[in-house]
Amino acid sequence: MEIYFMIVSFIMGAILGSFYNVCIFRIPEKLSIITPPSHCYKCDTRLRPLDLMPILSWIILKGKCRYCGEKISYRYALIELLTGILFLLVYNIYEYNIQTIYYLIFISLLIIITFIDIDHYIIPDELIIFGSIVATLFNILGQGIGIKNSLIGAVICGGSMLILINLIEFIVKKEVMGGGDIKLFAMAGLFLGISGGVLTILLSIYIGALYGIVVILNSKLKKQEYNSMIPYGPFISIGALIVVLCGTNIINWYVGLF
Ligand SMILES: [Zn+2]
Repeated sequence: MEIYFMIVSFIMGAILGSFYNVCIFRIPEKLSIITPPSHCYKCDTRLRPLDLMPILSWIILKGKCRYCGEKISYRYALIELLTGILFLLVYNIYEYNIQTIYYLIFISLLIIITFIDIDHYIIPDELIIFGSIVATLFNILGQGIGIKNSLIGAVICGGSMLILINLIEFIVKKEVMGGGDIKLFAMAGLFLGISGGVLTILLSIYIGALYGIVVILNSKLKKQEYNSMIPYGPFISIGALIVVLCGTNIINWYVGLF
């Protein structure tokens, strides 16, 4: 029975991942995510169910459109696979529970936000607003992490980053982080509460710094200019994801040190 639920959660994730691909492509273009139905962007042929099987269709069609042969990026299949795996992991931790849905919605938003930020350097407000409403509703109904913890988490995360970033920008006299990132921190606080939110901030800073060092070292080695414009949303998302998947373990380990 357990294995059955695990397979179902993976397939559900992969199918939704296919829908998130549509969201990632259409939301920044201000297009409807419902109509028109999926079609090839090159030859405009409407895709049939056989062309839309998550992961499988991409493998069977060898990454090409069945009708015109246009190359289809492996990223579509990767996002479907990633969503499937994350759904499976979240289900494994939180089990058959309302809280599982709470975290699955959060993780889904993080996936969409991450890839939109990588493509366009923006975090759409509508995703933040949608997430904030969902988190608040779940918490008011007592199905999340508690409304008090959630609201204070949002104020602490959003507020502290707003102050910190303004301070840094005042000193270095240039923009270091977009407003969307600060809103995403606030949303993470809303979903994860005080300790989870603060842990998200710390993890995102560590991961971002590590990535920055690798990029700079790599460019020095290859004697190339590096692109100093790095979207920060993916680091916040990875940090928040780690908190969802093993935040309790990290916090217990840290508290255990003292
Ligand atoms: Zn085509």
